[in-house]
Amino acid sequence: MTSATASLLDYDDVIAAFDPVMGMEVHVELGTATKMFCGCPTAFGAEPNTQVCPVCIGLPGALPVANAAAIESAVRIGLALNCSIRASSQFARKNYFYPDQPKNYQISQYDDPIAYDGYIDVPLTDGTTWRVEIERAHMEEDTGKSLHIGGTGRIHGASHSLLDYNRAGVPLVEIVTRPITGTGERAPEIARALVGALRDLVKSLGVSDARMDQGSLRCDANVSLMARGATEFGTRTETKNVNSLKSVEIAVRYEMCRQAAILQAGGEITQETRHFQEADGTTSAGRRKETSDDYRYFPEPDLAPVQPDPAWVEQLRATLPELPWLRRARIQTEWGVSDEVMRDLINVGAVDLIIATADAGAPPEAARSWWVSFLAQQANSRSVELPELAIRPAQVATLIGLVEAGTLTTKLAQQVALAVIDGEGEPEQIVADRALEVVRDDSALQAAVDQALAANPDIAEKIRSGKVAAAGKIVGDVMKATRGQADPARVKELVLAACSLHHRS
Ligand code: ADP
Ligand code: MG
Ligand code: ZN
Repeated sequence: MTSATASLLDYDDVIAAFDPVMGMEVHVELGTATKMFCGCPTAFGAEPNTQVCPVCIGLPGALPVANAAAIESAVRIGLALNCSIRASSQFARKNYFYPDQPKNYQISQYDDPIAYDGYIDVPLTDGTTWRVEIERAHMEEDTGKSLHIGGTGRIHGASHSLLDYNRAGVPLVEIVTRPITGTGERAPEIARALVGALRDLVKSLGVSDARMDQGSLRCDANVSLMARGATEFGTRTETKNVNSLKSVEIAVRYEMCRQAAILQAGGEITQETRHFQEADGTTSAGRRKETSDDYRYFPEPDLAPVQPDPAWVEQLRATLPELPWLRRARIQTEWGVSDEVMRDLINVGAVDLIIATADAGAPPEAARSWWVSFLAQQANSRSVELPELAIRPAQVATLIGLVEAGTLTTKLAQQVALAVIDGEGEPEQIVADRALEVVRDDSALQAAVDQALAANPDIAEKIRSGKVAAAGKIVGDVMKATRGQADPARVKELVLAACSLHHRS
């Protein structure tokens, strides 16, 4: 049976008859400069096979050395997940052949992961939290990437495959939850919230950019059903390729409905990996699941055990950042914005940008306004997410500062922002290069005002007779003449003075 023809039970009927059990395996690609066991760079998007060496492509005799920065990141993730940190943990070889894995084994950890027995209190949209227990967080190395050419990009129907080993050996931390039970109908929502919380957590630790779209955070969703009232777990499937939070929710829900239909028809669930199809939100059968015995795990003989100094671990614990969702709640109170506004800010990825802009010295109100209006429009018209827009919070703060100081008008500052986004450099440099500063020289402005009044005698007459509103046209002309570089309020004062009126604002 293919996924397209799988029969699905209605969600309400699933919940009436079954209790879902879930388990999440989340792979976090660490943002270290170099790989887990060699000095190769890890930058995303390089030419295929340009970031490789004898160690990460598994040439005979090459010896791995563990990356200290990766170990530190793993310990910090473990601590943030309330895990115990093991005094001595070993790397292990997980033996299997796959073309994107040139050594024929993956260096991972087996029965003594560096972090174990933790939990995370996952914030849900209704303001409550759901505690998910963490079984382990262990270190391992990533595999390379296969590229299937011809056909649909899947291996089936491809004419040939290409291999890129740039990713082989990039450090990963795999976070594995204990079975999540008792969620009932909220299972898909909780799965999504959990992965979102893990993503936000590792981002807040600064250990990974945690981009699901680029694969730096990857989630395998294990799902099984048990009949209501049963005490033993059912057989699970493990859905891979779930590349967004929304997909996590859809995949869990789909598996629940698919498995329920099979169970209700008297069938059995096959323990297997399944692939999530982004396009139609279905899953399809992958490979039958190996058991750990099949991998012939054994201790990695080329690497010493990892034995973090307890004092160092305590130091890392003491410097953990505030949990990102608690921080957000605090910020929301500080800013005094509604839940709805806050949710919008979170959804467009603006919160951290606004905070960073405020931290760089801008008033929070101005920081918020820049990111949610002008910069959001720019992101939108360039079809990128706000955080991917090529301008940094510190640069935005600089622009806000220049507006506050009267050096730039808002309009000019926006022009500078566009130039920054287009890669022209730092704000101050752009202002200098383009001579964009507001014209402060009254004599230059006075000349422009006199010229505009002379060119519009009828309007000048109206202003003189007391129609102050008519000054708007003259101010507009002066702004145009100065290419927007005048302060409109000052121009208005000069216009009214020229017409012997004294403007009071
Ligand atoms: P594997 O190596 O097979 O991927 P792991 O132990 O790494 O196994 O992860 C299995 C995941 O599935 C864990 O998150 C675990 O809690 C979860 N799990 C185990 N049994 C079930 C079950 N019956 N239904 C749903 N999830 C399960
Ligand atoms: Mg696993
Ligand atoms: Zn290498």
